[in-house]
Order: sequence, then structure tokens, then C-alpha cells
Amino acid sequence: MNLHEYQAKELLAKYGIGIPKGVPAMSVEEAVAGAKSLPGPLYVVKAQIHAGGRGKGKFKELGEEAKGGVRLAKSIEDVQRDAADMLGNTLVTVQTGDAGKQVNRLYVTDGVDIAKEYYLSMLVDRASGRVAMVVSTEGGMDIETVAHDTPELIHSITIDPASGFQPHHGRAVAFALKLEGGLAKAAQKLSKQLYDAFTALDCDMLEINPLVETKDGELLVLDTKMSFDSNALYRHPDVAALRDETEEDPMEVEASKYDLAYIKLDGDIGCMVNGAGLAMATMDIIKLNGMFPANFLDVGGGANKEKVTAAFKIILADPAVKGILVNIFGGIMKCDIIAEGIVAAAKEVNLSVPLVVRLEGTNVEKGKEILANSGLAIVPADDLGDAARKIVAEVKQAA
Ligand code: GDP
Ligand code: MG
Repeated sequence: MNLHEYQAKELLAKYGIGIPKGVPAMSVEEAVAGAKSLPGPLYVVKAQIHAGGRGKGKFKELGEEAKGGVRLAKSIEDVQRDAADMLGNTLVTVQTGDAGKQVNRLYVTDGVDIAKEYYLSMLVDRASGRVAMVVSTEGGMDIETVAHDTPELIHSITIDPASGFQPHHGRAVAFALKLEGGLAKAAQKLSKQLYDAFTALDCDMLEINPLVETKDGELLVLDTKMSFDSNALYRHPDVAALRDETEEDPMEVEASKYDLAYIKLDGDIGCMVNGAGLAMATMDIIKLNGMFPANFLDVGGGANKEKVTAAFKIILADPAVKGILVNIFGGIMKCDIIAEGIVAAAKEVNLSVPLVVRLEGTNVEKGKEILANSGLAIVPADDLGDAARKIVAEVKQAA
């Protein structure tokens, strides 16, 4: 799960981390009132979307010359104009894709006088089984470009969670950022606070770009992105409550309500499978037969009629779907129960595209019988290869 910049900053502030003052706003009036509550005279109006690269982004509805999604404003009037410009419009950045994202929230912050921009991020490094703190003196720009062109300017410091953050880690961060004196001390303190926040909140990733040195010699978090391990979210109801569903794919939100693992893809063939491994194999074999999957969908081990129906509805809500391949292994669940679920669901949703079903496992014969006697145009398949060939043939025939 991801958060908006203002939400992430509010969480970080609880760990004593320095952030510029700011106020979230859902309307132009709130943005103006927010700006008036800040010291001024420099403000920053920031579009809140779950994507980076906002500063260099472009608004679809505004001209090429219009400014991006992070704007410095020198007066309350500027704040008002920028807020009106951004709210409700679609911001396209390198991370949003061509469709862009509608801006529904803003963050109005105190403008900071920047002396230098740095980069700092943290992630769970699976290779080392540790938390990696990645730092660079090249902040404010696209870190992928820095990694590509000048990899020697990126330093990775790993922290063993068993022994935790030690003073030498903080010194390594300060050294890599070429900081001295008071700023080095500030970097040591900040990196410890960030590590504490990262581990206490069960983060997947925490990126600060830029971390800035102000003209007054302070270190501040100017921009941040935070994402959380969804398997640990139950431990953090306060974080879970910050979820902004309007930023997510509506079908993925719907799927999560039924505990279905669904990811939208670009192809034509909807897949309903139990088990992530089997779902991957199903997608592979569809590709091997010359077409592409429209989604990844794992209904899980305990698929019942309600789940199967929800899964059908989610698959069919995608206008790109031209056929459905159901590939279920009846291990914990028996095939006859699954077959009953598929038939009931197909009837309920008024299935309008070809449906190929491959069942295997406990009570498979009973299951196949239920499908055959359903009166529905369900095409049975004997194995994975057969199923993929059949759905591709059916879709091509229907076209
Ligand atoms: P992003 O484009 O989505 O990464 O948004 P950021 O919050 O990182 O802002 C982009 C850039 O705007 C930063 O790298 C800064 O150069 C600039 N910027 C943001 N806030 C301020 C500020 O308070 N003062 C100044 N001078 N520049 C800022
Ligand atoms: Mg940034």
C-alpha cells in the first residue's frame, strides 16, 4: 500500500524527523486558508498523487507552457491560482503512464531555501536479508538516471535487523553524503530516526528525494514516498486508514474486498486460477499459444461460490476480456464444489464470452459432470495445454 506525500510526512514527523510545515487541501479555499496559516512569503503547492516526477509533469488540460505539479508560489494569490489550476486536472508524469492521474488533493507547504539536494532511500534487500539504506549526493533528480550514468555516486549501507541501527551506520551515511560538522551529526540522527520509522511501521520502501540541506544548515525531508508491506498492515490500523482507494485500480480494490489476488494486465484472456504458481503457469501457456492474459487472478485455496462469482464479475468488468480460462486444482476444495460455484456464477453474471474450464484433483469426474449438465456453453479441457489451445481457438473463432 502507498501513501500520499503529506500522509507519509505526517507519519515521519512523529519520529522527530524534520519536515517543512504544510497543510493538505481538498479545495482552493482550503489551499488558501492553509497558506495563510504558514509563515510565508514563499509557499509550495504540491499535487498529491501516488506517483513521482510531479515537478516535471504536465497537466493534460493545460497548455505545454503550463507549470507542473510542484509549484513555488510567492504570494497567497499565486497559491490560489496554482491550486485552481491543478485541482480536478490530470497530471501526467514519467510514473503515471499516458493516462495520468487526476489531482484531487493538494499539499501547501512552507517554501524552503535550498542549499543542496540529496537522495536517501530504504528498502528490504532480499539478497542480503537486511535493510538497505541507499544514499547519494545527487538528489532531486531521477535516481534511475544517476544509477545508470554514474553508479559510483550511489552508496548502499546495509543494516542487520538483528543488531539494529548502530552509530557506525549513521557515520557511513554522513560520509557517503560528504557531510561534515553539524550536518554530519544531523544526518546520523536523521538516518537512525528513519530506520526506526521504517522498521516500526513495517515499510517496504521509504524514499526521500530530495533530502535537502537548507541555507540555515538544517536537513529536511522535502519529498517522500512510502509503501508498506500489506501482510503486516493488520498491525497498523492507523496506517491502513490512510489508504486512498481513488488512487488504485478500481477492480483491484474490489478484488481485495474478497481477498482475491488480482492484477490487471494488457491481454484478452481473463484467467481464474487457484494458487499463484498455477496462475503464473496459466499466463505463460496462454502466451505460448499466441495470446496474452488480461489479468492475474489467484482465488486462493478456499475458493467458494461467493469468491468465484466475485472473480467472474471482476474479470468481466474488464472490456478487454474476450474469453475466460478457468484453471483450478481441487486440492483442499473438491472439484464438484468448484464446478457448482462456476456454474452458479456463470449463470448469475450472464456470461457473454467463451469459457474454458480445466479441473483437476479430488472428485474431478463429478465436477466435469456438473459442468457438462449445466446447460451452459462451457468448454471442458483435460489438461493445461489443452485448455490454453481451446480458449485461444474459441476466442479467435468468436472474433
Ligand atoms: P517530485 O517532482 O514529484 O519528485 O516532487 P518534489 O517534491 O521532489 O519536488 C520537485 C522539485 O521541486 C524538488 O526537487 C525541488 O527542486 C523543488 N522544490 C520542492 N519544494 C521546494 C521548496 O520548498 N523550495 C524550493 N526552492 N524548491 C522546492
Ligand atoms: Mg521528489
